[in-house]
Amino acid sequence: MTRRVPAIVGGEPIRPDLMRLVSPTLEVGDPVIEDIRAMLASGEITNGRHVAAFERQVAEYLGVPDVVAVSSATAGLMMVLRCLGLSGEVVLPSFTFIASGQALLWNGLDPVFADVGAATYTLDPERADAAMGSRCAALLAVHTFGSPCDIAALTASATARGIPVVVDAAHGFGARYPDGTNVGGGGTAEVFSLSPTKPFAVGEGGLVATGRDLAAELRIARNYGNPGNYDSLFLGLNGRMLEVSAIIGRYGLPELPSWLRRRRRLAQRYRDNLGRLPGIGFQHIPAGAQSVHKDFVVTVEASAFGLHRDLVAAALAAENIPTRTYFAPPLHRQTSFRATRKDVELPVTDWLAARTLTLPLYSHMPEALVDQVCEAIHGIHRHAERIAELGR
Ligand SMILES: *Cc1c(COP(=O)(O)O)cnc(C)c1O
Repeated sequence: MTRRVPAIVGGEPIRPDLMRLVSPTLEVGDPVIEDIRAMLASGEITNGRHVAAFERQVAEYLGVPDVVAVSSATAGLMMVLRCLGLSGEVVLPSFTFIASGQALLWNGLDPVFADVGAATYTLDPERADAAMGSRCAALLAVHTFGSPCDIAALTASATARGIPVVVDAAHGFGARYPDGTNVGGGGTAEVFSLSPTKPFAVGEGGLVATGRDLAAELRIARNYGNPGNYDSLFLGLNGRMLEVSAIIGRYGLPELPSWLRRRRRLAQRYRDNLGRLPGIGFQHIPAGAQSVHKDFVVTVEASAFGLHRDLVAAALAAENIPTRTYFAPPLHRQTSFRATRKDVELPVTDWLAARTLTLPLYSHMPEALVDQVCEAIHGIHRHAERIAELGR
């Protein structure tokens, strides 16, 4: 192996141009373009026949009773929480994306943050149970980075209190629970995102997998609460999916399993390579479950690796390798959640937020690029002492 000098301490960057952190994998063959052309010519550009067909196709793929296509996962979560008529508190992880918690704020619900598992990074069922007080109206679980949360334990806790589990499945389309069933069939509703950074991307869009009754309400909710006669029944919004998103989704879905297989192989390649380095940790995927690796995330323990996560990120940026620090700051430390109860201690969340580093990953990413990122990280580790001096 060549003994490169990392760019941050004066060497040449490992690559001349900026690598992509994420990139949507899309089916772009002639049939997609033909359908888009015909759709435009028809004038039926939103919530039309392609959306209806996409909903049926996804429900069959997932093996769930019904699927409602919406404009985004955020809108889907907002509408699910509204249709369930919840009030009071909802227990959720703080180690998640902004939208999980803001869907609660839009509904006037009070977020109560519970810690995540140190290995799984997903909502810790015992902590969640302990956080549920008398005002608790629901649990909001998240399939963090595409790895399924412990839906069985969380559902057992919620059911014992007679409250629903709503799942922010934004990261999880195509993932599997330990029992082999598809993510989508858990809880009262599971809400997927199809936005550009997710493994199944169509542009903008979301999918709610749920039972028939809630689905019927959601179809009204996404249309301003209007059942068709303009006597609005309840508070809704414009949450419709565009036909173009549905067309992209209809052609993408049959390809998705092979895209996800490739993605899992790339994640494993990262693990095999970086697992040899001291101080690098990975998310534990529950036995029997399948993650879709929405993000490939490592933890960097400075005492063993020789550098703090932030310096590793800076050193990779100098190599033209972009990273993110999902999820820092976690929700309980963000300004928009400042009104939330602060009497919670979330040591695992804070530990992760200070150590996680998201590395480039997309389903069609060449293996050579994974190797390049790994080589850069090995080089940064070898020169950790010199790089650490920059941080002093
Ligand atoms: C991306 C994301 C959302 C929001 O999805 P949109 O479709 O962009 O609204 C919600 N929750 C999590 C955890 C996400 O990562």
